[in-house]
Amino acid sequence: MVSAAPLAEVISQYTLLKPAGRDLVGRCPFPDHKEKTPSFHVSPDKQVYHCFGCKKGGNVFTFLQHFQGMSFVEALEHLAERARISLPVDNSPFANSQDSKEYIRKKELLGINKIAAQYFCENYKKRPVSHDVREYTHRRYIKAAALESFGIGVASV
Ligand SMILES: [Zn+2]
Repeated sequence: MVSAAPLAEVISQYTLLKPAGRDLVGRCPFPDHKEKTPSFHVSPDKQVYHCFGCKKGGNVFTFLQHFQGMSFVEALEHLAERARISLPVDNSPFANSQDSKEYIRKKELLGINKIAAQYFCENYKKRPVSHDVREYTHRRYIKAAALESFGIGVASV
């Protein structure tokens, strides 16, 4: 469960999340928003959170950045570190073999990488067409479909 869905796991450390339809709902964990009725939603499918009370929202990286004051790179390292230590319980016959643990670890890191790639892609899409980065991809004749399929994005804010 950890592999592709680290957001709910990370947020669960700070607030109790309960299933509500496809989402998980709990009280907003941000200290500047004290609430009695839960309005903080986490979507494990989309890997995003949104608080209907204070309007904070984002993905696992923005959560760590805003909640823990981490930089994007620190958040990435933190998640990679978590993936290494929190191995899920595996009851398969190969559960104790080194290969299996290595496989699970790689799977988790791939999951984190996928979320990072989505983050970069979203960063790219948020830029105006006149932005340097978009002009650059346009100059290189990189089409939207290619950007999408190769997961090309931009890192800086
Ligand atoms: Zn809130």
